[in-house]
Amino acid sequence: MKITYSIIVPIYNEIETLPELHRRIKEVMDASGEAWELILVDDGSTDGSTEKIRELAKNDKAVRAIIFARNFGHQVAITAGWDYARGDAIVIIDADLQDPPEVILELAKKWKEGYEVVYATRAEREGESWFKKFSAALFYRVIYSITDVKIPVDSGDFRLMDRKVVNVLKQMKERHRFPRGMSAWVGFKQIGVTYKRNARMAGVTKYPFRKMLRLALNAITGFSYFPLQVATYFGFLAAGLSILAIPIVAYLRITGSQAFFGQASTLIAVLFLGGVQLISLGILGEYIGRLYDEAKGRPLYIVREAPEE
Ligand code: UDP
Ligand code: MG
Repeated sequence: MKITYSIIVPIYNEIETLPELHRRIKEVMDASGEAWELILVDDGSTDGSTEKIRELAKNDKAVRAIIFARNFGHQVAITAGWDYARGDAIVIIDADLQDPPEVILELAKKWKEGYEVVYATRAEREGESWFKKFSAALFYRVIYSITDVKIPVDSGDFRLMDRKVVNVLKQMKERHRFPRGMSAWVGFKQIGVTYKRNARMAGVTKYPFRKMLRLALNAITGFSYFPLQVATYFGFLAAGLSILAIPIVAYLRITGSQAFFGQASTLIAVLFLGGVQLISLGILGEYIGRLYDEAKGRPLYIVREAPEE
C-alpha cells in the first residue's frame, strides 16, 4: 500500500503521553482519508515507554517502532525517523502533545498547494517558564542573525516535508545536527503556518539547560563561522587600541603624569588578554572537537529493534 504521510515522533521517557498521542494522531490522520504510518523512535527511554511503544506497534499496524540501543538525543531520533519513513510527506512532531496533531492537516493543506517544506511557527507558547520562553526567543534570534542560512524564528522541529526534501536530508550525515537549520539550508519552496503551542500534557521537559546549550552550539557551529571570526575582530581591536595607546602613554610619561604607575594596569591588561585568548581557544576547541567526531565516522545511531521492511 502506498503511504502518503509518515509521522515521526522522537520519544524519551514519555510513558504518560503515549496512549493519548497515539489516539490523537490516529483520529487526525484517519480523518485525512489517506494512508499514513506513525514512526515512534524510542531514544533510549528508561521509564517503560519502550514496552508501551512495542505494544502500540503490535496492536496497530500503522505504528512502527524503532528502538535505540541508548539515548542519542532528539535530533538523532528525528534522523532515524527520516531513514525509516516511507511516506510522500514526512511530519515531525513532539511526543508531549505541545504541538497539536490537528495542525498536521493544516500543514498538509499547504503541501498540497505545492510547498515542499511547511514549518509550524509558534504564535504563542503556553505553560512554559519565562526562562524557557526568553532563552528560546533569544536563541532563535541569535541563530537568525549570525548564521548564513535564514532559519525561521520561533519554529521548532514540528514541520511537514516533501519526500524530495527528506531524500536530500538523508544524505547530510553530519553528527552534530540541527534539523531545523538543515531543512532551511536545502532550499525548496518553504512556508510557515502559525499555531498555538500548548503546555506539555504530562511529565517534565527533556531539555534541561545543558541540552539546550548543546543544541544552540550545534546550531551555531553547524551553520556559521562567526564565533571563529570574533577572535580575529577582537585581535584587530586590541592591537589597534594598543598602537593608539603607545604615543598617549609616552606623552603622559614625558609630561610627568603619574597615571600609569604601579602594576594594576599591567595586571588588568594581561588578565584581560589572557581571558580573551582562552575563550578563543575554547571556541576553536568546539569546532575541532566536532571535526574529530566527523573524522571518526561512527554511525549516527544504533538501533536495537526496527521493523523489517
Ligand atoms: N526527546 C528525545 N530525546 C532526548 C530529549 C527529548 O527524543 O534526548 C524528545 C521528547 O521525548 C519530545 C521531544 O524530543 O518528544 C521534545 O522534547 P521536550 O518536549 O522535552 O522539549 P521542550 O518542548 O521542552 O523543548
Ligand atoms: Mg515539549
